[in-house]
Amino acid sequence: MARRLLLAGFLGLLLISPLVASEFHITLLNYIGLYAIVALGLVLLTGVGGLTSFGQAAFVGLGAYTTAYLSTAQSLPGWASMLGGSPWMGLLAGLLVTGLVAYLLGLLTLRLSGHYLPLGTIAWGISLYFLFGNLEFLGGHTGMSGIPALSLFGIELRDGRKFYYMVWAAVLGAVWLTQNLLNSREGRAIRALKGGVVMAEAMGVDTARSKVLIFLIAALFACVSGWLYAHLQRFVNPTPFGLHIGIEYLFMAVVGGAAHVWGALIGAGVITVLKQWLQDWLPRLLGASGNFEMIVFGVMMIFVLQRARDGLWPILTRFVPQREAKREVPQGDALPKRPVPESGRVLLEARNVFKRFGGLVANNNMSLTVKAGEVMALIGPNGAGKSTMFNCVSGVDSATEGEVLFRGEAVTHLNSRQIARLGMSRTFQHVRLLPTMTVLENVAIGGHLRGSKGVLSAMLHLERGEEVRLLAEAARQVERVGLRDAMFELAGSLALGQQRTLEIARALCADPCLLLLDEPAAGLRYMEKQSLAELLRKLRGEGMGILLVEHDMDFVMGLADRVVVMEFGEKIAEGLPDEVQRDPVVLEAYLGGVD
Ligand code: ADP
Ligand code: MG
Repeated sequence: MARRLLLAGFLGLLLISPLVASEFHITLLNYIGLYAIVALGLVLLTGVGGLTSFGQAAFVGLGAYTTAYLSTAQSLPGWASMLGGSPWMGLLAGLLVTGLVAYLLGLLTLRLSGHYLPLGTIAWGISLYFLFGNLEFLGGHTGMSGIPALSLFGIELRDGRKFYYMVWAAVLGAVWLTQNLLNSREGRAIRALKGGVVMAEAMGVDTARSKVLIFLIAALFACVSGWLYAHLQRFVNPTPFGLHIGIEYLFMAVVGGAAHVWGALIGAGVITVLKQWLQDWLPRLLGASGNFEMIVFGVMMIFVLQRARDGLWPILTRFVPQREAKREVPQGDALPKRPVPESGRVLLEARNVFKRFGGLVANNNMSLTVKAGEVMALIGPNGAGKSTMFNCVSGVDSATEGEVLFRGEAVTHLNSRQIARLGMSRTFQHVRLLPTMTVLENVAIGGHLRGSKGVLSAMLHLERGEEVRLLAEAARQVERVGLRDAMFELAGSLALGQQRTLEIARALCADPCLLLLDEPAAGLRYMEKQSLAELLRKLRGEGMGILLVEHDMDFVMGLADRVVVMEFGEKIAEGLPDEVQRDPVVLEAYLGGVD
């Protein structure tokens, strides 16, 4: 409630500002708005997606220069003539140019990992800046003037006071689009990027696509800001599109709160006002002229990174009463399910799988099958190669040699996303979840492949029907594994055993016919193990095939229909639990010869 009041107050202030503020303050507010749009793109790209870009100013430049050129050129080539004359066509053209350039740059640079990506963005940030300054038809370093004012409904937005509403409508529009996106299936896929690509891919998320998408969206936001800038300033030169401004944009996003939509506004506001203030006062205080504010900014950045990594937004919201989190269990129609394979039918068949890590043979001629409606246990001492085998059959890793068939299809060379689509879903021995997302949202990531609505409908909020059904399905799975009471807790606050259980719900949300569980009972208490066993029996009864890696012998022997025992990467025994338990080779290997 308090938050809603604050938002209403903020919007009210925004609305009346031009009526009361001075010319100077209007200009300041206009610039804050323009910067906030770029910073918002960085919140999505860097704060949420974890991809750092220093080059956003270049995209602002593309938006500004495209419209500047098209609206001032004396004569355009025939094919482009329809783009001239109107700033709105300039916007369209700018979005197209920026989209194309960003797509190509994204394809080239997003493959880079770690610190190579930021370096890549610096490289093209500098290149585009020099391109603007060196192209004759863009006015070189002098720039271009005579850019027409925007007109809206017959009103010419000539002065800052009129332009103000245009800028802030764009800011609020961008906030709305971004928030919608983040609270959607595609948004969860984007947020999953920070949890590492292995989990996201295993849940069917095309992580390369998600990265390109947020890169594109951030670039297009920057382009809109540049377009507005060009028609506000009515003059462009390369200076505001250089690398140091790109760094400033990143600074705004980080100071505001890199993973928070409203943080972009706070960051843009704080930095812009502070910069203005420092530019005025520092030279007076020091009695010399110079860009002293940059030095203060540098020190401030280090302070923020040390003391308030999450930026100002989380600090500010601490003083506002928390909004009562939505605790209504989502309700909705069931999603379509895949047909259940006939019980007893072979689902998974691994034939003579070898996996070598350098000289180490982690899987040595491993074969196994899993049928629909059975629990097949893979056991063996630590380091025997069980998890490696899991990775090979689920496409997280690929076998060095051998063949894997899933539902009769060769999947040896498919990646985990493609295999997930065929109906295999897994958990991880070392839990991989998103600690700052709720249990429900984490589980919903598992349902990624069961939705189809894309980014555009998510941003425009046109996918609500599908979204409700997805969340309802996730809620059913959360209840099914017994985590109902924790549904709206943050996943990171759960005990390890519950986090494992969450992973099972996430895997089930994909509607698999084969479930791969890597040590699901580790860290569970006795009662929790009992209910896990009960759940697995129930799933088996429904025709699910389950491949289970487990340490707890009592747990395995009471549950498994068949057992494969591994040691040193090889299969040393296979059979019914009773037979295997009595097998001297197994006793020797697994129990160290103790009987
Ligand atoms: P288990 O799950 O049965 O405990 P793992 O499959 O995790 O065993 O490991 C089998 C062997 O392979 C171990 O010796 C482990 O150190 C090695 N191994 C696993 N993954 C890798 C990797 N990515 N690179 C090198 N060695 C690995
Ligand atoms: Mg393991």
